[in-house]
Amino acid sequence: MKKGTDLFSREKGTDLFSRVFGDFAQKREKINLSPFLNLSPFLLLLAFQAAAADPAADTVFVNGKVWTEDEARPQVQAIAVLGEKILAVGTSAEMRALAGPRTTVIDLNGRLLIPGFQDSHLHFPGPSVNDVQVDDARNVEELQKILRDFVKAHPGDGMQQGGGWTYGQFPGGKPHRKYLDAVLADRPMVLDDRDGHVILVNSKALAMTGVTRDTPDPGDGRIVRDEHGEPTGEFDDGAKSLVYPIVPDASFDDRYEAFITHMDEAVADGLTSAQNASWSPMTHRVVLRALAEGRVKLRLRFATPIEAGVDYAADKIHLSRPITSADLAYYRELRETFPGPLVKFGAIKGYVDGTVDAKTAAMFEPYVGTKETGIPFWDPKELNETVALYDREGFQVMLHAIGDKGISMALDAYAYAAKTNGTTGRRHRVEHIEVPRLSDLPRFKELGVIASTQAIFCEPGPTTFVSYEPPLGPQRASHAMPFKAIDDAGAVQAFGSDWSVFDFAPIRGIYDAVTRMTPEGTPKGGWYPQQRISVEAALRHFTRDGAYASFDENIRGTLTPGKLADLVVLSDDILTMPPQDIMKARVLLTMMGGKITYEE
Ligand SMILES: [Zn+2]
Repeated sequence: MKKGTDLFSREKGTDLFSRVFGDFAQKREKINLSPFLNLSPFLLLLAFQAAAADPAADTVFVNGKVWTEDEARPQVQAIAVLGEKILAVGTSAEMRALAGPRTTVIDLNGRLLIPGFQDSHLHFPGPSVNDVQVDDARNVEELQKILRDFVKAHPGDGMQQGGGWTYGQFPGGKPHRKYLDAVLADRPMVLDDRDGHVILVNSKALAMTGVTRDTPDPGDGRIVRDEHGEPTGEFDDGAKSLVYPIVPDASFDDRYEAFITHMDEAVADGLTSAQNASWSPMTHRVVLRALAEGRVKLRLRFATPIEAGVDYAADKIHLSRPITSADLAYYRELRETFPGPLVKFGAIKGYVDGTVDAKTAAMFEPYVGTKETGIPFWDPKELNETVALYDREGFQVMLHAIGDKGISMALDAYAYAAKTNGTTGRRHRVEHIEVPRLSDLPRFKELGVIASTQAIFCEPGPTTFVSYEPPLGPQRASHAMPFKAIDDAGAVQAFGSDWSVFDFAPIRGIYDAVTRMTPEGTPKGGWYPQQRISVEAALRHFTRDGAYASFDENIRGTLTPGKLADLVVLSDDILTMPPQDIMKARVLLTMMGGKITYEE
């Protein structure tokens, strides 16, 4: 153990005798352990008998609160792991009886042990370690300071890339290239917004794109212009493709470094599995290298794109609309080659609309103060046919849909596919579901569609009251991120984070879903508190429901004997502590497939 060894004890490779009477007694003094070793003579006898048993467990966690998510046995004291699987669950005495001479026994000292967290929507490999991240800025001065400090620490002559900005950081909610020019004028700068739907560039980069006041908007996006008609440097949704040609390709080593670095961060936050809501040939090579080097630390399922753009063509994968048989053959091959449980394929990701902040999420009624109702990216008929094609082929379709109209279109497409193909059990998914029509929520259960939501989205940050709630208006905002209503409608709700857009720490996600407050505790009582859910529900959405959403409920997601030993130990019992304190809980240990991937 490194620092923090008073949290729980662990002995490795020692026989029971020396554990009881040898160096462990000293260790116990030193690190202030709970009375794990105050065994009764009876239990000692049991343990000695078990030492002879074959095969003994590799790891045994005792004396804790083991929250299994298994309805057959929801809470036990202890759990034993053998190889990559859970050997047994039960009382501490029963599990100690499964220990042998080489067993690692971990005393939980009453702490909470839960199934490993699954993030059902994120985006590996994530940002380059050479990209600047401005998420933490609360205003344009702070944003400029972050940029200035980063540029100073990372001098160069090429393009500075980065991301994480939001409308609320800029005066009047209006981003403009002049704020970037003030920091960096002689090198191009290209910054993604936090949601990944909008790009802001400085004047140098704008000049490189060749876009001027005379350039027309593309049909699926917007070149934002100032009051004089000049481009501000903001490119919304489809207009981003006007910037892509000037952005240099990320190098393979850069992507690999990002993947490894961020995977370490994820396991430190307790993640043992994740649904990647994207994929590219570059990502694929990165993952293959990590697999070959034995460095994949969490279970990853990848979603290939419903249709591909220029990035994929560069790697000789010609995906296009309409989907060709070659495209399908390739996706089938990926699905067969990677069936899991470590790396898995079989999902298809598409976008129905954009975001509320950019007013590109497709709504039935206009955004407040405008005539705009957002931009659906598909003609409904074309969407239906494309979804039906993948449905017929046995793929699970994931459709990004945020506005009420976009969500309706996604559900319509799933209903159409099931009816046309006569299929069931595809577990298609709607991603985000931020502002649904409440009358659409029962359709999730009826159609067997997964509600893939992001817990942290209900955290009311500064942008919520600047660029999110005002364009929706109070009626629609009152049921934005309606986690409670989704649960009440009987849907399977799988929580994710949409990292690298947002923090992927599930503890923070649980805090958000339970309080609907910022980490600082505002607004008091929570943002539309009627949509708060319980810790139990939030935990289920981050564990069991995520496994179901990946078709993995028979092999993981609950702490059930025979399932994969994916689990997490927390410093505090989030199930009983005051909700406002949940973020104080830390991940002490993460285990995936019986191997410890993180230890505080
Ligand atoms: Zn996403």
